[in-house]
Amino acid sequence: MVVLQNLARTIDVGSSSYLLDIGNTRVVLDAGMHPKLEGPGSLPDFEALREGSVDAVCVTHAHLDHIGAFPVLCRRQRNAQICMTEETMALGGAMLHNSVNVMTSKRDELNEPSYPLFGHRELDEIFQKLTPAPIGRRFRLGDTGEVRCTLHPAGHILGAVSTELEWVGGNLLYTGDVHFEEQSIVGAAQLPCKHFDTLIVETTRGDYERDPDYTRQAEMERLGTAIRETLKAGGTVLIPVFAMGKTQELLVMLRDLRDAGLIPRVPVHIGGLSTKMTTIYDRFADRSHRLNSGLQLLRDLDFVSPAAGRRSGEIHFEPGRIYALSSGMMTEHTVSYRFARNILADKKNALLFVGYADPESPAGKIQRTPRGGTVELARGNVQTLHCRVEKYDFSGHAPREHLLEYIREVSPKTAFLVHGDLPARHWFAGQLAESHPEMNVIIPEPGEAYVVE
Ligand SMILES: [Zn+2]
Ligand SMILES: [Zn+2]
Repeated sequence: MVVLQNLARTIDVGSSSYLLDIGNTRVVLDAGMHPKLEGPGSLPDFEALREGSVDAVCVTHAHLDHIGAFPVLCRRQRNAQICMTEETMALGGAMLHNSVNVMTSKRDELNEPSYPLFGHRELDEIFQKLTPAPIGRRFRLGDTGEVRCTLHPAGHILGAVSTELEWVGGNLLYTGDVHFEEQSIVGAAQLPCKHFDTLIVETTRGDYERDPDYTRQAEMERLGTAIRETLKAGGTVLIPVFAMGKTQELLVMLRDLRDAGLIPRVPVHIGGLSTKMTTIYDRFADRSHRLNSGLQLLRDLDFVSPAAGRRSGEIHFEPGRIYALSSGMMTEHTVSYRFARNILADKKNALLFVGYADPESPAGKIQRTPRGGTVELARGNVQTLHCRVEKYDFSGHAPREHLLEYIREVSPKTAFLVHGDLPARHWFAGQLAESHPEMNVIIPEPGEAYVVE
């Protein structure tokens, strides 16, 4: 018998964390922190788990909505076997240390005495004890000997995996965040094409219909055109990016555009956290699941101008350059947010978005504002938007048609639709109800437990 419980507290993309009881083996899949909530309320409901009752914790990748609460889970589940790839250990460790710094600075600002929810030393102790889990090789999960686990490359970001679990009488696949197409650095997902009794599948882009003529190459050239025109007119380009993943993908795209003669040779500035994350990507340059194998971004791309350590907040504005700065959503207090005032006011400049932005984030507000209009980036910070603004699709998530195709291929008895806003999940539910009426399709409610066999 398998029981799945959604440990998240909200039904949105929010944070990912699922409890599985498979016979006598108890597994937690992902331990994410909700990016829009603060304090203990941003954590999954780990209180529901008796101390020491979890046999294994599998973390699919290093985004905070999957790993952000991992240290808190470890505190109460000290003997659990931890399952994550070497890349996720490296990237996730750096993300969590940064998260401690962010929480520490928010402690006074938000009057949130629970912050930081964990500390640097605690992280070091946890990560020192970890051994990386292999990709593509079956291993035992937990001490009971009932469950075997195999990790499969999931695309998305470096080190991301989907988790396959097998036991006598059943099997299951949790996709985590997945992308079936190659990006510039991260290869395509390689998920098993076979039947699974239970599929836990992400639905992030369920309410987005991608243009059937879309190609990554054409999108990249469109980006190149905007950069070229802006620089030619004497303007400056700001590309807000997430420090991990999107920054590194973007640097390779900029190299390709430069090599093709589509953009001129100008320095590309990246921030301190992005530099740190790029160093980790470089450490894994020879991994088989990384494209552009052997390419050391910081050493080989001579146009990249990295900022070191704490100086990242003091990047100096010089016109006529490209700034690829985090955060991708231009969240208050980040480098890209501070840079906005240099960019927005001049019509020669360009603000180019290459990733997802929450509609309520400063980036989301800018995207809704017409040229010449005013935008309130944060309370008391109202600016007039004069610069060029464009948006590109370089998502690390599979378009909905690809996911639907995969679900149909796997043809599970039960499909749990996760990691999507409700309209996104409902799109999948509607499609599957039509084509596979016999399939048990579940949108797992927070706190609810579902017996699937
Ligand atoms: Zn992710
Ligand atoms: Zn995610």
